Amino acid sequence: MMDRPRTYQADILAIDDTPENLQLLSQLLTDRHYKVRSVTKGKTALRAAQAAPPDLILLDINMPEMGGYEVCERLKAEDITRDIPVIFISALGETLDKVRAFKVGGVDFVTKPFQVEEVIARIETHLQICRLRRQLQAQNVRLEQEIRDRRQAQETFSKAFRSSPSPITITTLEGGRFLEVNPSFLKLSGYSRGEVIGFRVDELNLGLDMNRYRERRERLEQSGALHNWEFDLRTKSGHVRTVLLSVEEIELQGYRCALAIANDITERKRLENEFISLVSHELKTPMNSMIGALDLLGTGQLGSLTAQGQQMIDMAINNAERLVRLVNDILDLERMKSGTLTLQPKLCDLPYLFQQAKTVMQTMAQAAQVTLIVEPADVQLWVDGDRIQQLLTNLLSNAIKFSSAGGTVYMSAQLENVEDHQTVEGQPQIPNPQLHRSTDPSSTLHITVRDQGRGIPAEKLTLIFERFQQVDTSDARAKGGTGLGLAICRQIVQQHQGQIWAESVVGGGSTFHVVLPLMSALNEGSIAIDDATSD
Ligand code: ADP
Repeated sequence: MMDRPRTYQADILAIDDTPENLQLLSQLLTDRHYKVRSVTKGKTALRAAQAAPPDLILLDINMPEMGGYEVCERLKAEDITRDIPVIFISALGETLDKVRAFKVGGVDFVTKPFQVEEVIARIETHLQICRLRRQLQAQNVRLEQEIRDRRQAQETFSKAFRSSPSPITITTLEGGRFLEVNPSFLKLSGYSRGEVIGFRVDELNLGLDMNRYRERRERLEQSGALHNWEFDLRTKSGHVRTVLLSVEEIELQGYRCALAIANDITERKRLENEFISLVSHELKTPMNSMIGALDLLGTGQLGSLTAQGQQMIDMAINNAERLVRLVNDILDLERMKSGTLTLQPKLCDLPYLFQQAKTVMQTMAQAAQVTLIVEPADVQLWVDGDRIQQLLTNLLSNAIKFSSAGGTVYMSAQLENVEDHQTVEGQPQIPNPQLHRSTDPSSTLHITVRDQGRGIPAEKLTLIFERFQQVDTSDARAKGGTGLGLAICRQIVQQHQGQIWAESVVGGGSTFHVVLPLMSALNEGSIAIDDATSD
């Protein structure tokens, strides 16, 4: 049953053995919208208070059978009535034992004959104190519950944090400093707690690309969470583990922090890549024989075709060739990443490499009515010539593909000092154009491939180096690309310990920069790839 809303100010129990007094009190209080219950005996008063505890009790001291002090003592002895404020009533001239009155639990006194305003003021004061005390108690109960809940949540979190099989880290958002890591992270990374806590992520050699790290941090700040961020983590012993990160922004001791939970997917990736390679291999042979058959049909040697039939054959050849390119790109990339495709570095002439790339791309440029201008530097460099050739043709092919008829594509190279490429705030700098014709082993070669084509929006400039990332989803179909070219370029450049990045003005063209060390640390013979690439 629902309680009826109160229409009175407070429920008051008045106890006095003189009915006239009670009458007077009752009238006085009822006029002011109090609900009054009146009793003339102590015992009845105790029963009434227990049956329905009032908000306040007015209690006469001198009563036969059970006096006011004893009634008060009994009220204070019971839980249900203990907290009800008791105001004693004493007649003027009666001796009032104030010490005893307070000792038994009274809170105040009023004297007969009553001063109406005084009686009301005292009643209101004690009712107010009582209300406040109740509010405080309720608040305390709430707070205690909140503290209990929080403590429990904290304990649950720390237990999950400590025993989680997934590596977990907490870093400050601002400086990327490790505040806490769990045992699984230490196991995965190979570092000890002391080598991690208090250090910044870039102070440990975790294989993070700091440009991309900053970009992800900005995204985290904007959206509060990041999911499925795949990157290759370099362990203390130099091994590379592929992890899938989920990051949430949290607040810890007033600091904005990043809570990162990792999943080690190295094995899964390996199996996945193996599967892709296997399927791609299996596709290659039938695809090539299909192209052969289509070519043969196209020549008309097996019977002449209608113009429409010829058109269909050309389209089929085009698409089949695109599929073969895709399969080859997938295989190349996976072999590079898995380390099965190793570098074969040799001393190579840059003018020769440039000329070769130009020759390979010339037909495509002519078909697109694009002029190719190539200006090599007269240097030799210690690289895998075939891979650099692949890099240059990929960049040229893109530049031509995304140019309009009548446009020009420039490929040039300059020798520079390594200091020219120090990064400021992690952004690769446009190098100092001052040239050094130097044999200094710290010299670098800066290659640029510039076009006047449609350009690339700023937010895609780093994304396009990821696998299957295209500015426009129709690019693959419309331009015959695979979405893997730049991922391969990045892999090749990283294998050569270089840097690659793009600059662009939408509608005004793009420039791709590659910086390679002239005398890289690449040793003669084959070199396994161990670089982080997919973060
Ligand atoms: P694709 O095979 O599609 O060319 P890439 O990895 O080589 O794959 O390039 C990825 C995407 O980057 C392209 O689809 C295109 O959207 C964009 N892109 C690359 N180079 C250029 C360029 N020179 N001008 C404009 N967009 C480019």
